[in-house]
Amino acid sequence: MALNSSRLAAAAPSLDASTLVERQRAYFETRATLPLEWRRAQLQALDRAARKYEAEILAALKSDLSKSPEEAFFTEVGSIYGEIKSALKNVKAWMKPRRGSAPLVIQPARAYQYADPLGVTLIISPWNYPYQLSIAPLIGALAAGCTAVLKPSELSPATSRVLARMLSEAFPPEIVSVAEGGVEVSRALLAERWDLIFFTGGTQVGRVVAEAAAKHLTPTILELGGKSPCIIDRSADLEVTARRIAWGKYVNAGQTCIAPDYVLIPPELKGRFIELVQRAVQSFYGATARASGDYGRIISDRHFERISALAADGKIAFGGERDAPSRYFAPTVITDAPVSSPLMQEEIFGPLLPLVDCPSIDDAIRFVRSRPKPLALYTFARDSAVNERVLTETSSGGAVTNDVCVHFAAEGLPFGGVGESGLGGYHGQASFDAFSHKKSVVKRPFALDLKLRYPPYEGKLEFL
Ligand code: NAD
Repeated sequence: MALNSSRLAAAAPSLDASTLVERQRAYFETRATLPLEWRRAQLQALDRAARKYEAEILAALKSDLSKSPEEAFFTEVGSIYGEIKSALKNVKAWMKPRRGSAPLVIQPARAYQYADPLGVTLIISPWNYPYQLSIAPLIGALAAGCTAVLKPSELSPATSRVLARMLSEAFPPEIVSVAEGGVEVSRALLAERWDLIFFTGGTQVGRVVAEAAAKHLTPTILELGGKSPCIIDRSADLEVTARRIAWGKYVNAGQTCIAPDYVLIPPELKGRFIELVQRAVQSFYGATARASGDYGRIISDRHFERISALAADGKIAFGGERDAPSRYFAPTVITDAPVSSPLMQEEIFGPLLPLVDCPSIDDAIRFVRSRPKPLALYTFARDSAVNERVLTETSSGGAVTNDVCVHFAAEGLPFGGVGESGLGGYHGQASFDAFSHKKSVVKRPFALDLKLRYPPYEGKLEFL
């Protein structure tokens, strides 16, 4: 549906959303995207562009988020090469119709699932891993034979600019377009009719996207946020647990969707755990994280203020130092925050780690079950029966035992949320599936046209 042009002009003067969509739709209708060769060629073009622009991407991530090149490669750039390589290797197999079974009553017949490209798709991405979270869905779109318009975040403008240049050089706009801008651009795009909207961002905005999608009954993949808990059992190796949680919490200054949000811990372990987290932080970033090239900065003044306000909800066990002009916020551990406080209600998305006294695994499971389903859950125990119990009795988008965040890197596993943390998944074949429609197909010959199913039915029941 074309947007009313005066409304569009008022919403986003520099963006003609309907032209973007119509151009891609006209191209998609040529059926050029269907063959394997087209898909491979696009994935190869993306790979070449990513490699050519690697230095600029790393520089942009440094400028937007103060990410060290090593961390940026480890958490963003490297995984993209892996995803493209896997898609190139497997796309032929993913495209093949999958055989299903045809029951006796419809024989003779053969049953299949065909993977049809959904069509013209919209990808909206956030600022925290602005490169990875823009390109990973795009790989799925191209492998599945879709076109895509990407709307990166206005809060990571350096990366958005590089993405726009890199993708406009690698692709004509009828295959991939980048629409830079903020909420108004996003709204103008969301008013259009898409064949899929792939959104990564906060749960609140996820609702806005779902409402816009409902108007055209557009399918959505929603990769959202939430409060991902860590549960520590008395049998856990506390030193390794503390080090792994500290890494997952403070990487990217806590601005990671699957970062451990809070820790449920038996009260008698708390003192030792705080010591061990502090020791881990010092071993990562030195005596003061501010001087380390490996420690990030908060993305904006608004988020800096939001995190500062959350830090006031409990007692600071260590950390808490901050510098507003540079948006530095030290790795921080907090105790005694009321469970009703904003710190324990909202997704933190910053370097604050609240500890909640939790005497038993029963209490921990009850606590998690009483809240919205998280994007990730981490359970730490040497006793594997405890971990298994936590996995079975809680629901979360993904989970890891005795570590944090690493499920994101398990390319063979779909990554996504559940309930308020999201809808649908991607990575590896799941990305291809996300951008495909699984069409059920039954193939029948003309022969053996049994009359049993045709009226008149009288007397036929006895044959069934
Ligand atoms: P956000 O929801 O504020 O913004 C995401 C995108 O939506 C941006 O491109 C933004 O321009 C656009 N947007 C913002 N407000 C909008 C509106 N009212 N209407 C239409 N579009 C709008 O998220 P963010 O602050 O960029 O990212 C942080 C959030 O994203 C956190 O909640 C985090 O957990 C989540 N996240 C989830 C994943 C995941 O894979 N599940 C990954 C990274 C981040």
